[in-house]
Amino acid sequence: MALTDIPARLDKFGILPTPQRVEIAKILLKKPQHLSADQIIGQLRANGSRVSKATVYNTLNLFGKCGLIKECMVDPERRLYDSCIDAHHHFYNVDTGQLVDIPAADIEVLGLPALPEGTQCEGLELFVRVRNIPD
Ligand SMILES: [Zn+2]
Repeated sequence: MALTDIPARLDKFGILPTPQRVEIAKILLKKPQHLSADQIIGQLRANGSRVSKATVYNTLNLFGKCGLIKECMVDPERRLYDSCIDAHHHFYNVDTGQLVDIPAADIEVLGLPALPEGTQCEGLELFVRVRNIPD
């Protein structure tokens, strides 16, 4: 996706494209990837940006709420932000913390238990936990 389209893309998701939001979106949306808030802050600093940590966290929250990005909670201490919002699954490497996409069509779910009363299924995302094989 062309980085010049970012303000229009934010607008489409109902997000006011302030300069700081555009700056953060440019980092995350430049390719399909999964980044932590700290990694995004690191890239902002490397670009000479002075956007505050709090602004980055608030912005990522907003992006997630509006559906511009997807939040992947791989474990309670690690939240990654996914630039790909199409339905897909992930390999999660517990040794490296890395997420790798699995196309939705590559996993076939044969059945689900009855949903809790009063709920409807919003989506199904699997994490396949993998570990490096020792040499
Ligand atoms: Zn992903």
